Amino acid sequence: MRAAVLVGPNRLEMQDVPTPTAGPGELVLRVGANTVCGTDGRILRGEKTAGVRQGVIMGHEFSGYVHEIGEGVEGYSEGDLVGVMPTVPCLRCHYCLNHLEHMCINAKLFGYWIDGGLAEYVLVSAEAIERGAIVVADPGADPAEIALAEPLGCVLNGVDNYGIDIGDTVLIIGAGPIGLLHTMVAKQRGASQIIVVNRSPGRLEVAKEVGATHTVLTGDVDVPEYVKDLTGGLGANVAVQCIGALDLFQTALQSARNGGRVNAFAGFPKGQMASIDPNLIHYNELTVTGGSNMGRNNYRRAVQLIGDGSINVGALLTEPFALEDAGAAIEHVSAGRGIKTAVIPG
Ligand SMILES: [Zn+2]
Ligand SMILES: [Zn+2]
Repeated sequence: MRAAVLVGPNRLEMQDVPTPTAGPGELVLRVGANTVCGTDGRILRGEKTAGVRQGVIMGHEFSGYVHEIGEGVEGYSEGDLVGVMPTVPCLRCHYCLNHLEHMCINAKLFGYWIDGGLAEYVLVSAEAIERGAIVVADPGADPAEIALAEPLGCVLNGVDNYGIDIGDTVLIIGAGPIGLLHTMVAKQRGASQIIVVNRSPGRLEVAKEVGATHTVLTGDVDVPEYVKDLTGGLGANVAVQCIGALDLFQTALQSARNGGRVNAFAGFPKGQMASIDPNLIHYNELTVTGGSNMGRNNYRRAVQLIGDGSINVGALLTEPFALEDAGAAIEHVSAGRGIKTAVIPG
């Protein structure tokens, strides 16, 4: 089969590799779609090396059709569309035993260590199946949309951390795919005002389509003042930072009302410091949370919400790429083009 193999920094090669076969307890999936994200670019450029194996087939956001069922595997039928949660937790480390399996210290990830979805077929280990990483989707769902259960599940984990109540005003900073997913979930959760802030106008149009009630270009207005004007001088119930711009973290803190919540969902440039006024947290009694990865509960919910149409992630899918062009797809995403880019084999 054809596969996109990480052979070294900045070297992704399309190779002919042996097509996997399912041993006892294993599954082989025919890849339906693999969506690409910024992390793939960081892995390819050698900027992200933790848990990454040279020689791995890349791709961690993917879905597939059950192609071969190994002896003893139950609960799957040939042709089932499934989503693959890329993190396979160990279930026995400190974090796995304390409801933080997404922080598992022994986790191995598809597309980092385990061969991933930028290929025609993927072998799923008995461990991944037993630990619930393979989730059957609605049979009518679009495989590229099911691939987006990965970022959506991560967003659901973030939302679990910061909380959205019906009637809330939610400020979302950054209208990349992640900011747009937070927008969709905020709408679904019953937020009354969803304010999306971004540097470029194009994405703000999409933000409106997926649920933003107000959109603002950064630089055009003083964001905290704008949010206060919309909330009778109070500020947002929750401010979610979805872009790793260090200076905007202070903006997020300034935009939340007293007793409000601020979530640092985006990753920030490694080793760099943000300048913030900690008195905003102190006097205003802000609750500051983060969000990274997801547990199996969130992945399952994401597959379900996409399958039943509750969250229309299809609105984020832009021009797809063929498997042979996987490297170009990663470059396309790294250059900030498209919104969510799917690689579709065959
Ligand atoms: Zn990703
Ligand atoms: Zn663990």
